[in-house]
Amino acid sequence: MKTERAYYDYTAAGPYRAEIRELRPLEQKPAKDKTDAPLVAVILDKTIFYPEGGGQGADRGSINGVPLLDVQESPSGEEILHLVNAADAAKLSPGPAELLLDTKRRRDLTVLHTAQHLLSGTILRLTGKHTVSMHLGEETCTIDVDTGGNPLEFSAETLIKVEEAAADAIEEDHPVIIHLCPPEDVKSFPLRKVPPQGEEVIRVVEIEGSDFSPCCGTHCKSTGQIGILRVLGAEKYKGMTRVTFIAGRRVLYDSRLLRQNGDLISRSLSVPVGETGKAVQALLEKTAKLERDIKAFEDAAAETKAAALLSRIGASGPAGAGSSGAGEGGAGTVLVETYPDTGIEEILRIGRAAQKKTAAVLALASEPDKKFAAFCSAKGADIRPLFKDALAAHQGKGGGGPGFFQGLFDSAEALAAFLADIRAAGVVPVATGSVK
Ligand SMILES: [Zn+2]
Repeated sequence: MKTERAYYDYTAAGPYRAEIRELRPLEQKPAKDKTDAPLVAVILDKTIFYPEGGGQGADRGSINGVPLLDVQESPSGEEILHLVNAADAAKLSPGPAELLLDTKRRRDLTVLHTAQHLLSGTILRLTGKHTVSMHLGEETCTIDVDTGGNPLEFSAETLIKVEEAAADAIEEDHPVIIHLCPPEDVKSFPLRKVPPQGEEVIRVVEIEGSDFSPCCGTHCKSTGQIGILRVLGAEKYKGMTRVTFIAGRRVLYDSRLLRQNGDLISRSLSVPVGETGKAVQALLEKTAKLERDIKAFEDAAAETKAAALLSRIGASGPAGAGSSGAGEGGAGTVLVETYPDTGIEEILRIGRAAQKKTAAVLALASEPDKKFAAFCSAKGADIRPLFKDALAAHQGKGGGGPGFFQGLFDSAEALAAFLADIRAAGVVPVATGSVK
């Protein structure tokens, strides 16, 4: 049996009386419902809850105190399915029911929907481009406009013009008129989009004199109720231009959030809120320069520490130039150094600088981080077997390639025992004594 639709004019917060006709376990859940919880469809004789459709989300509210999770039209379009948790449905039974509408959500969706008509109509009037589809999201709303494959159709100036024209229409408070007419009469309206086929009655929504659109959603009584419309931007989307917008109270929330952030930046940088963008840009440029300077200092310090390391452990000078054997500092010789107060990041820089100047294997450990990094640039060397086996023997974690290996231990003792094993290994086989 057809559910009577009483949702168009009903926006009151007070209870609405209806009859529960049936509680029907839902066999097929809506695709967007990702939960495992079974749902029950409550069938009413008449409803104040708008079912999802035409780009507008479903209403929320309650039936005899049971919260509504979703509202959908049945596949035939005759019935309206009010979806509730199966556990909650046990509290309901056929008979009289009190319906409560979440009026805040309804007003939000109604304002956004009417704003969408105004926006699409204004874009059409100012640019000649048609809206193809729309979506009212939980955060922002979008319309997709056919711009003939040109995503740059809407410049920033165009979007401001659209926004200003919409603001004028809101201030002028044009009535929004609903026409219910048979399909044969619909041609008398200059419709912005094609009406649905096979309907007995077509619902045409008019923003007085300026925009006519067939639509089944809920709408404000006049444009003034929209309050304000903000175009947030335009971008390329599937060969069209997607325009993002918000309206009504969402503009208030957005403005409040931006102001809170703007004030915080303004106080932090001691600049007026209107100049925070430029100030942040300048700060980022200054920071980038400082980072470049710091890196240059770190690299220079690493070179100095690498030279000190090589002379301390007797590995300075390319092994190919004089010490190509397996003796101290020569190719494949394993040299271990522990740093008691240097972090692994700095050790990595020292190791990278030092390996250019020796064919020995350098195993450098950070005591504070309980980590080590090993380097070997001798041709044909593969340090993995040595480090993998020793790592496993001391419950370390890590990995690497033929010429670089790193690892981490749970305790300083495990790291020390691991390093003692590496030191005892002494030599790794290499093909030649020269640095790659
Ligand atoms: Zn509409």
